Amino acid sequence: MDKKNIEWSELGFGYIETGKRYVSTYKDGKWDEGALISDPMITMSECACVLQYAQTIFEGLKAYTTEDGRIVTFRPDLNAQRFADSARRMEMPVLPEEQFVESIRQVVRANADYVPPYGTGATLYVRPYMFGINPVIGVKPAAEFQYRAFTTPVGPYFKGGAKPITIKVSDFDRAAPCGTGNIKAGLNYAMSLHAIVEAHEEGFDENMYLDPKTRTKVEETGGANFLFITKDGKVVTPKSNSILPSVTRRSLMYVAKEYLGLETEEREVYFDELSEFAECGLCGTAAVISPVGKINDHGREICLPSGMEEMGPVTKKLYDTLTGIQMGRIEAPEGWICEIM
Ligand SMILES: *Cc1c(COP(=O)(O)O)cnc(C)c1O
Repeated sequence: MDKKNIEWSELGFGYIETGKRYVSTYKDGKWDEGALISDPMITMSECACVLQYAQTIFEGLKAYTTEDGRIVTFRPDLNAQRFADSARRMEMPVLPEEQFVESIRQVVRANADYVPPYGTGATLYVRPYMFGINPVIGVKPAAEFQYRAFTTPVGPYFKGGAKPITIKVSDFDRAAPCGTGNIKAGLNYAMSLHAIVEAHEEGFDENMYLDPKTRTKVEETGGANFLFITKDGKVVTPKSNSILPSVTRRSLMYVAKEYLGLETEEREVYFDELSEFAECGLCGTAAVISPVGKINDHGREICLPSGMEEMGPVTKKLYDTLTGIQMGRIEAPEGWICEIM
């Protein structure tokens, strides 16, 4: 396998077309067996359900090279389950979880020359997604769907160390109380675009969304869950049914308890408690953890004691342990590392 001639450590987070993508079509009530194809373009009706009514869901995970040279992915079975949950909520057909995992295996294998070498910090991002493709004008779910998975190499999330970020408390909501916040639907991101553009214009890195019903509790950002560390070293994550259940966050909570012997708690976190925490981080596949240094609430600053220079000590330990497990430097719990080749 010849690796592509790419400056891996200089890569950003953008789309780069790779050789193959996986496609499976749902028609007449069933999925076909799926195949790898070369054409990156999609042709569909101008009235396709996805274009008119946004019937689309997605997942995101990474393939990477471990210290001993294997190409692996991290817990793709959890992405398969979450994708199935998303499909059910969106009145879309469930792609069998085995077929989902198999599609990841096939598309990563087919693009193995784009999987960055160990030590570059870069990874091959895998984007599985599904959308309603037949024409729909009266509001109803589509009858025909396409499932696809493509790959694109992405650079190290932190170039030159993980600097803490500043976030703002948003006046917008990303989810409704009984809406779709707990599934990975494109529509949640469409909702958040205006809010994130505004936050960036104001000089903030991310939005903190509060619970849409009472606006007294912390939910998450546009694409990452919160972890807080209390002053006595307990790891706390917000509990709510409008938060997207992050694979990274669930893994970090396990690592905190089972590897680091820390106390963990998934519970409602009130906005008023924020000034009592010692550290704060955002977790998701892209960065694993981004440290938060400052939270801006309409001009009032809540400064985390861990400061604006580096990750807090507990956050750092969590980050090092999980990335160590992912890269094969620390023994992983049974079933976490899925070997592709
Ligand atoms: C994808 C996503 C996350 C992170 O989930 P991971 O499985 O850890 O990548 C968090 N919040 C939202 C809203 C997301 O869409």
